[in-house]
Amino acid sequence: MIEIYTVPVTPFLQNCRIIVCKASNQAAIVDPGGDKEKIIAKLTALEVKVEKIILTHGHLDHVGATMDLKQHYNIPVVGPHRDEQFWFDALPEQAKMFGFNYLDPFLPDEWLVDGEQVTVGSVSFKVFHCPGHTPGHVVFYEPNTNVVLVGDVLFKGSIGRTDFPRGDANQLVSSIKQKLFTLPDETSVLSGHGDNTTIGHEKASNPFLSGRFG
Ligand SMILES: [Zn+2]
Ligand SMILES: [Zn+2]
Repeated sequence: MIEIYTVPVTPFLQNCRIIVCKASNQAAIVDPGGDKEKIIAKLTALEVKVEKIILTHGHLDHVGATMDLKQHYNIPVVGPHRDEQFWFDALPEQAKMFGFNYLDPFLPDEWLVDGEQVTVGSVSFKVFHCPGHTPGHVVFYEPNTNVVLVGDVLFKGSIGRTDFPRGDANQLVSSIKQKLFTLPDETSVLSGHGDNTTIGHEKASNPFLSGRFG
């Protein structure tokens, strides 16, 4: 069993998530984009043992507090896929682009590949490589709770931007149709921004995927 908590961070209201394995009380931080004090306060209140940081992709609003939290808890950083490296190398430029404070480039301790498992306590998440918004974007699916953390791949009624360097709209739609839409309709979709949705709801009504907008 898992419990997932949401901490909105940065001016972009990025949904940093805290996954807690109920059996072991171990926790992972997913996409700590900023506001490290807010994230630490939540983890302290939960009284969990923080085990790792997991990243969906290398955009600054998803990774900005990673190194501070890594040092604070002395934990590894896992993901995304290695095709994302140029976004990590470009963190100083991203800070300028997004109007954030300067951030040194860093790399995760471990890259992930499609089909791999990432554990939080005794719970396993399956990794899907879903390029398009960024080339190394990954999502994390947990089949027992039936939840998928999708970062900026899919939103309620929308999909991720593809106008960044190495973004690819066709690739993004393929990632969604060939990977996310193979999951059960009732799967909860937790996006990097905005409200939660379900796979079935987006299959039925997402205008960017139903063909209504060419
Ligand atoms: Zn993004
Ligand atoms: Zn984002």
